[in-house]
Amino acid sequence: DVLERTKAVDDKVGAYITVAEESALAQAAAVDAKRASGEELSALAGIPVAVKDNICTKGTLTTCASKMLYNFKPPYNATAVDKLAAHDMVVTGKVNMDEFAMGSSCENSAVKLTHNPHDLSRVPGGSSGGSAAVVAAGEVPLALGSDTGGSIRQPASFCGVVGLKPTYGAVSRYGLIAFASSLDQIGPFGRSIEDAAMLLDAITGYDPTHDSTSVKTPFEGSVRANLNPDMKGKKIGLPKEYFGEGISEEVRKAVLAAADSYKAMGAEVFEISLPLVDYALPIYYILSSAEASSNLARFDGVKYGYRTPNAGDDLIDLYVKSRSEGFGEEVQRRIMLGTYVLSSGYYDAYYKKARAAQRKIKEEFASAFEQCDMILTPVAPTTAYEIGSKTQDPLEMYAGDICTVSVNIAGLPGLVQPCGFDSSKMPIGMQLIGRPFGEQELLNAGLAFE
Ligand code: GLN
Repeated sequence: DVLERTKAVDDKVGAYITVAEESALAQAAAVDAKRASGEELSALAGIPVAVKDNICTKGTLTTCASKMLYNFKPPYNATAVDKLAAHDMVVTGKVNMDEFAMGSSCENSAVKLTHNPHDLSRVPGGSSGGSAAVVAAGEVPLALGSDTGGSIRQPASFCGVVGLKPTYGAVSRYGLIAFASSLDQIGPFGRSIEDAAMLLDAITGYDPTHDSTSVKTPFEGSVRANLNPDMKGKKIGLPKEYFGEGISEEVRKAVLAAADSYKAMGAEVFEISLPLVDYALPIYYILSSAEASSNLARFDGVKYGYRTPNAGDDLIDLYVKSRSEGFGEEVQRRIMLGTYVLSSGYYDAYYKKARAAQRKIKEEFASAFEQCDMILTPVAPTTAYEIGSKTQDPLEMYAGDICTVSVNIAGLPGLVQPCGFDSSKMPIGMQLIGRPFGEQELLNAGLAFE
């Protein structure tokens, strides 16, 4: 039925890069057989889940929506995908994204456009636009995405679904094709808080053999079982800098209305200040591009992926042409920006400064969490915009990430869920930011609002 629904709507939505029909049917049949034999199964067994195309799936194309990896079939699964399999979940296929997760609208995909299911002329957000759209369109109930600077939260907001960026380290990054390793996290999309909590429970955990930055979390696998929507006495901070200029009136109103409903539930809601948000975008674009330039050096046309047919015998020519032809414009822009800020002579002025400023942002959040338990903000300055309306101006596109990047810079968890609609009936999302490993508390608050 899931595949039927996908066939019926996905030519309009355009969420999938690869529908893994054969392996999905085989996985589903295996679950049926286990069930018939009376085997005890996970609550998630048989539930279909779509996976962002930068998360490795053994034997199934994993393209990062890039020409560079047009034919890449990983010989292994990402840890998160292995965990889905351990719960007998059924992977339906791989969904669209901005190339190498660089972008905010899915328009940087080298494969196709994805459309917002609420209005097909608008973007689904990005970079995990396919993951958000596929859930919003009712093609699957759950999806995995990745978030380096907002890539789970902003598309969840644009498509009116729930998305969670876990605390850095809560989910193994093994098999997630790296964009900026110190910021990247895999996380869940769902139609409800409970669904997202269930998927988080499935994928979280320490991965000692494959990701040394992963940790054993305090909530390990038990978030859904412990969901408790009691908001009495909870302290919620509203950082005034996130509600100022640049945020559309409709978005601001909807998020402030959510703050009022928390008050009505007995939470203490008050204004706080996070002034360093002004520096968040430059810090993010320096750090993430620096790491990207290094991570993407491996795509050289030799080991795997695209190789130019136009190089003669010259090795350097092979590298240059393979990379120039295989990477899209935005990816090349980030690589150049990254190598620039890392180059000697500029390293101290840009990269080192950005790292120092990152520490300040972490400290700022830490002291905010001495006053409050969580922080409520908008997710993006506007709701989903028309396809093509921002592609001419990369800086304007970057500016749309203002509300989300600090969370990655500080390594914190961020939960997004719908909180209303604007006058053109596009969903508005709100973001709750928590303490490190405060996922349970965030999802509790999410459930209280739902
Ligand atoms: N939109 C941001 C960027 O373009 C965030 C991307 C992400 O989180 N992967 O870098």
